[in-house]
Amino acid sequence: MQNQTVSIGIQTKSKHIDDVKLYINGKFMGALSGATFENINPFKNEVINKIAEGREEDMKLAIKAAKDAFERGPWGTMKIEERMKYINRIADLIDEDIEEIAYLESLDTGLPISQTKKMTARAAENFRFYARMVQTKLHGESFPVDDEFINYTVYKPLGPIGLITPWNAPFMLETWKVAPALATGNTVILKPAELSPLTADRLAKIIDKAGLPEGVFNIVHGFGETAGAALVAHPDVKAISFTGETTTGSIIIKNSADTLKKTSMELGGKSPLIVFDDADLDRALDAAVWGIFSFNGERCTANSRVFLHKNIKDQFVEALKERVANIKIGDPMDPSTQLGPLIEKDHFNKVKQYIEIAKEEGCKVVQGIVPEEVSAGNFVPPTLLLNAKNDMRVCQEEIFGPVMAVIEFETEEEAIVLANDVRYGLAGYVWTNDLKRAHRVAQAVEAGMLWINAQNVRDLRIPFGGTKDSGIGREGGHYAIFEFYTEPKVIHVAIGDHYIPQFGKKKLSEQP
Ligand code: NAD
Repeated sequence: MQNQTVSIGIQTKSKHIDDVKLYINGKFMGALSGATFENINPFKNEVINKIAEGREEDMKLAIKAAKDAFERGPWGTMKIEERMKYINRIADLIDEDIEEIAYLESLDTGLPISQTKKMTARAAENFRFYARMVQTKLHGESFPVDDEFINYTVYKPLGPIGLITPWNAPFMLETWKVAPALATGNTVILKPAELSPLTADRLAKIIDKAGLPEGVFNIVHGFGETAGAALVAHPDVKAISFTGETTTGSIIIKNSADTLKKTSMELGGKSPLIVFDDADLDRALDAAVWGIFSFNGERCTANSRVFLHKNIKDQFVEALKERVANIKIGDPMDPSTQLGPLIEKDHFNKVKQYIEIAKEEGCKVVQGIVPEEVSAGNFVPPTLLLNAKNDMRVCQEEIFGPVMAVIEFETEEEAIVLANDVRYGLAGYVWTNDLKRAHRVAQAVEAGMLWINAQNVRDLRIPFGGTKDSGIGREGGHYAIFEFYTEPKVIHVAIGDHYIPQFGKKKLSEQP
């Protein structure tokens, strides 16, 4: 195996990054075909290392391991406290490794290190949270029926579950699925995004170190159309939890139909942020800027459409221009960097193309400046599309980069109509100090999640997900464990001698 050295910038020492293998049945292994693909760093566009490219035959192995572990292994039958010790151990090992995981995440994705550190800490909490949640909340109900029966429910794990994840916040999003899936007693096959395999590999190493029984957790790296599709089509996989693009979600639903799988879909967004003229404009400005330019704009809940009341529009736009000019663009490993490079060249070209489309559609484009010394990276500067109209392509399609469209409105009704005139419905933000209006607008905007006078801070207990083309189902809190990762089973118990029809009996007893 050939390890490579990547020099990634002023703030970082060169490091050797091991090539990445699949993790199947408790073993790290190459793909059966021997195939690998190159993993590229978006800051320098240099090869970091090689990744084993899993295909259908590798996926079959991983699914068999997960099935055996579910049906015959100790995972499903061990005491709940023992299972939660494993889950909490994973959280502790993540905490011990935060610096390194954040480094790998920034190296792989170009996300600024100050942001990947926070996300990594959050990933550890995902495990602790679900350990607590399953131990304290995952219980059934009982239904006494007169004095004749008691019916009660128990929540059972599903079996081997396929988790398919994107590259935009990889470690956070993987653990957000792996933690509830394992805590509820399922076994897992994770297919991470091909553009960001490093921290998924680190998760495999952590889970291996935590000593989970063989086959409980497996990772098959590879491409969506091969490895991902094989996972979706396999009859032994009982459910697919997917986060990614809306078009991919639709393909996955189609491909899972033949094997009647349960699916959970967390998809794209084009979320509105509405600022009324009575809002706290300084805070609204902070939130609007953070909401689109953090995570390099590659954020599903990004406020990519900002609606400004006409009375405050000019003032707000001037403040936006100043912020955009001052956002610190640079090496993702520099703790002071606020905006890093986009994940890969193709995506970079796509985002730049949208900025050209915006010009053709009549927007005035205002951008920050990418420093000359980082020009090898996939940098798109923070970008404002001024004078945008909601029916333009740049306001209807998910760009998934640091690009904010600014749209003027006059009335509350108009703001609501415009906010809803889009296929997506993931998040929404409203800024106003009028209490009644805040609630009216929050109720009316079509989104799975709506924040009033806040950026998208989130408690792990709340339901996370979108409506319209942004998703089906909810992750988070008890929603994940009751509605997706387990299913209820009802047990009917007779506690009296209820009437049973006596078909075929010669002498019938007295009927009620
Ligand atoms: P993507 O859909 O291209 O890929 C996501 C995953 O699906 C990858 O692992 C990929 O290999 C796999 N995949 C692709 N084709 C497949 C197929 N035919 N069968 C099975 N698997 C397949 O998405 P992306 O570009 O990695 O991520 C960005 C998208 O994710 C954006 O649209 C963003 O809004 C969305 N996203 C949504 C949320 C949310 O919670 N709603 C969170 C983060 C990202």
